[in-house]
Amino acid sequence: MKIIMLGAPGAGKGTQAEMICEKYKLPHISTGDIFRANIKNGTELGKEAKQYMDKGLLVPDELTVKILLDRVAKDDCKDGYVLDGFPRTIPQAEVLDKELTKLGDKVDFAINVDVPDENIINRMGGRRACVNCGATYHVQFAPPAKENICDKCGNTLILRDDDKPETVKNRLDVYHKQTQPLIEYYGNKGILKEVDGTVSMNEVFERIVSILG
Ligand code: ADP
Ligand code: AMP
Repeated sequence: MKIIMLGAPGAGKGTQAEMICEKYKLPHISTGDIFRANIKNGTELGKEAKQYMDKGLLVPDELTVKILLDRVAKDDCKDGYVLDGFPRTIPQAEVLDKELTKLGDKVDFAINVDVPDENIINRMGGRRACVNCGATYHVQFAPPAKENICDKCGNTLILRDDDKPETVKNRLDVYHKQTQPLIEYYGNKGILKEVDGTVSMNEVFERIVSILG
């Protein structure tokens, strides 16, 4: 099963992707996590991506598509995956479709987690991230057992640079201009599923499970 998570930054794509992957035993592929791991390790890719990420802009398509295609070519992706944060532009979606078509394959579901901009600003300020293992928390809605420590790997949690309010506004603008058109793109393909992302994490997940079966 190949699943794409759509939605604004902070809508809960990563949170739901993690839950889906655990239940359906699929790899969770987040381009944002891949970029953050590269930044942490000081790679050339990380240095280039950081310039865009810090401003709330998208990393250029050529770079993003390459790392995504390399990742989905790995063995653990044979039986499917959940893409979280990719595609974010129509050209990215077109490349993915083209590559899958070559393999006689396709995306099965595009799940749009719908959350209005007003709720997003709140969520991002409270988000805490583990750069070591990619886990995500929220100071109010999903706190870790020990303040600022990752439950899964024990690393210290951070407030992402791009989760500061000025950058969040830019990211929302970028989302509306460049990413939102994907809702229509996948709607036209007949695989779009809309879920209300303003309810609790477990309620969102129940709705997704009812879609995926
Ligand atoms: P995205 O991957 O779409 O950027 P995240 O999954 O990281 O979003 O979620 C953004 C923040 O909101 C995180 O701190 C997360 O813990 C919190 N969150 C996710 N889903 C919900 C929800 N349904 N209700 C309240 N907070 C949520
Ligand atoms: P995320 O962790 O999904 O919120 O992504 C964080 C940042 O990484 C985004 O604001 C972009 O700068 C960059 N990024 C992640 N995925 C993509 C993508 N598919 N295309 C372009 N930039 C991306």
